[in-house]
Amino acid sequence: MTTHLRVGIIGAGFGGLGTAIRLRQEGIDDFLVFERADEIGGTWQANTYPGAQCDIPSILYSFSFAPEPRWSRLYPLQAEIKSYLEMCTDRFGIRSRLRLGHEVTRAAWDDDAQRWCIDTDRGSWTADVLVAAMGPFSEPAVPKLPGLDTFAGTVFHSAQWNHEHDVTDRRVGVVGTGASAVQFIPRLQPKAGHLTVFQRTPTWIMPHPDRPIHRAVQRLFARVPGVQKAARRALDLVQESLVPGLVYRPALLTGAAAVGRRHLRRQVSDPALREALTPSYSFGCKRPTFSNAYYPALAADNVDVVTSGIASVEENAVVTDDGRRHEIDTLVFGTGFELTGNSGFGTLVGRDGRTLAEQWAGGEMKAYLGTTIENFPNMFMLLGPNSVVYTSQVVTIEAQIDYVLSALAVLGEHDLGSLEVRADVQQDFVERTDDVLAGSVWNSGGCSSYYLSPSGRNFTFWPGFNASFRRRMRALDVADYRVRPRSHADAVVRG
Ligand SMILES: Cc1cc2nc3c(=O)[nH]c(=O)nc-3n(C[C@H](O)[C@H](O)[C@H](O)COP(=O)(O)OP(=O)(O)OC[C@H]3O[C@@H](n4cnc5c(N)ncnc54)[C@H](O)[C@@H]3O)c2cc1C
Repeated sequence: MTTHLRVGIIGAGFGGLGTAIRLRQEGIDDFLVFERADEIGGTWQANTYPGAQCDIPSILYSFSFAPEPRWSRLYPLQAEIKSYLEMCTDRFGIRSRLRLGHEVTRAAWDDDAQRWCIDTDRGSWTADVLVAAMGPFSEPAVPKLPGLDTFAGTVFHSAQWNHEHDVTDRRVGVVGTGASAVQFIPRLQPKAGHLTVFQRTPTWIMPHPDRPIHRAVQRLFARVPGVQKAARRALDLVQESLVPGLVYRPALLTGAAAVGRRHLRRQVSDPALREALTPSYSFGCKRPTFSNAYYPALAADNVDVVTSGIASVEENAVVTDDGRRHEIDTLVFGTGFELTGNSGFGTLVGRDGRTLAEQWAGGEMKAYLGTTIENFPNMFMLLGPNSVVYTSQVVTIEAQIDYVLSALAVLGEHDLGSLEVRADVQQDFVERTDDVLAGSVWNSGGCSSYYLSPSGRNFTFWPGFNASFRRRMRALDVADYRVRPRSHADAVVRG
């Protein structure tokens, strides 16, 4: 017999775990978290590459309802973030609600029964509400390079790091120079015999303000939680101060760009290398990152930065468009994640029988408030399209969880079977979002980035301040939704 749940949650990263904890805090115990991996943590379980680190301060990159006074550093490394999530799982008593090693193979809306049918590789469940917390960065992307299958050396993606493989004295090739590569290249360079970095576009690199958090500060945070809360608020305002430049007036970012250029000048003296590492697009257009070790690593004697595109891969070499052969023993992809082509979208089946992948064909990902999607009743996607605010993604996730809790309350109060965002409401949100983001640095800064769909639509960011997102997510407005009572008659409730 299939067990019925109030809420089914896919994914045990910050999103799924945070939802589980908040449900329990609200007295809702009738839920399960399905996670395909054998451990919790999501991003911080998968990304174990050397140097993996958060680029948002720990105080902000954690749940507001579970402050941790003992963070060892301002910017925590992967292992510490994973431990934090393990601690939260135990402290809030949600371990028994986890179904680890359960991959959701299909979740389909049954419009007659008004419930989700969730199939995993280890059994099936039904649920009134589905929280899709599958993570935008959970499916590694590897470019389809001609000849890659003929490569005889060791090859892996940064999110699937091969810890068994020793790179000592080997000729290592790194494809990609985004946020992950900027973190692992300085760890690879001292070990590798030779390192060839294949760079398509240079990243803006900023001086890293990371430092250990002094014991006295940890003690203060533990004894006077209000101080840590104030620090979190202050850091939130620092992030918020970037929004005017990023969203509304990119010219305001020239000061940040000057800091980045000075950092490069100070750390790289070779003019040719400096030129290769100078971004030709506006600061902020692609994700900038912090590092004090990246430029010195690239300037080391055993490193080549290759800016010619990759034409093909051979048994023991990478061949670039300029005809050069670069001999390689180990090939590491720091090429990011499948964002618009995430295979998880093919497992979610909406009211009309179409999958989310079909609905979002061509990478045109559209949602309402980054969270609900027409044709997918009672489904809430965490970190969905246009939900990302320019701060810790945990802040986005918490706001979205508030929205889920509000939806559950609305369903209960009005004795509703389902809520589905109205097509006109979603379309209106998408158009207003597109209008605002047209002038943002992400759309107008002269780069192509993973923030944009193949057609150039910015499907990533919330069009405004972080605070405005939080405000909008506090309560679900039932007038935005096509609702059905527990009986089958359709209705629209006007607020
Ligand atoms: C290397 C790296 C560094 C980052 N640094 C930062 C940072 O500094 N600041 C920041 O704000 N954000 C950062 N991010 C973004 C980060 O992904 C989010 O902050 C956050 O961890 C997302 O949590 P999540 O729960 O939404 O997704 P995830 O952590 O990705 O968790 C999703 C989970 O869903 C599971 N899952 C997916 N599909 C299925 C299925 N069909 N069945 C069962 N389980 C499934 C996955 O296995 C995974 O465990 C970074 C991301 C990466 C990859």
